[in-house]
Amino acid sequence: MPIEASIPVICRKCGHKGNKQVPRSINASEEPSLKEAVRSGSLFTWECPECGTVNMVQSDLLYHDPDNRLMLWLLPDAITLEAETKILSLWSSIQADESMGDYIFRRVNDAGSLIEKVRIAEAGMEDAAVEMCKYVTAMELAQQEKNPQLSAALSSASLRFNSMEGPDNLLRFVFSLDGAMHSVEVGFNVYEDCRAILGRNPDIIPSGPFPIVDSGWVAKTFR
Ligand SMILES: [Zn+2]
Repeated sequence: MPIEASIPVICRKCGHKGNKQVPRSINASEEPSLKEAVRSGSLFTWECPECGTVNMVQSDLLYHDPDNRLMLWLLPDAITLEAETKILSLWSSIQADESMGDYIFRRVNDAGSLIEKVRIAEAGMEDAAVEMCKYVTAMELAQQEKNPQLSAALSSASLRFNSMEGPDNLLRFVFSLDGAMHSVEVGFNVYEDCRAILGRNPDIIPSGPFPIVDSGWVAKTFR
């Protein structure tokens, strides 16, 4: 398997065609510059040489971060039988490797989710508890909003973990609403409460070959 893939891209503004070389897999400990390109998002963008427009480029990427005991698989396209076979075959070799027993394995469908999971791991948090936090926060924002239309939009807003800030470890989430980006800060105690719930119910945390842990998982688990 080649280490890099050449992804054909078409500028969404001017239609100029080009190619972007992207890695198929990254070891974050061995390649800190690629890790930074993931964190900043630059790995997933292509700047059109004709008009300067920044375009999104996504392709399969296996992200391995031994320091944070994390393995993420970005598979942006619908899962084909071929992809399924690839997942299961990698999974069986992982199972045979005792040094990976304490790893978190996740599959994500888009680059934004991959970046978010990397940031969550770097902040030393668990993604399942953060997903619960996001759900609780969106519900709270919706409850506080008097305008019924905005309230409905808030309850289904998709929040992203952005950073942990200040001496109190405030969690900053960002979301888009009405075409603008907003941010909200949440106390670390909310995260701790969610983590405690998961601690009492370890069976609801997904395991097995690269499960998806996102808002869909929260909706399914806590409805
Ligand atoms: Zn262009």
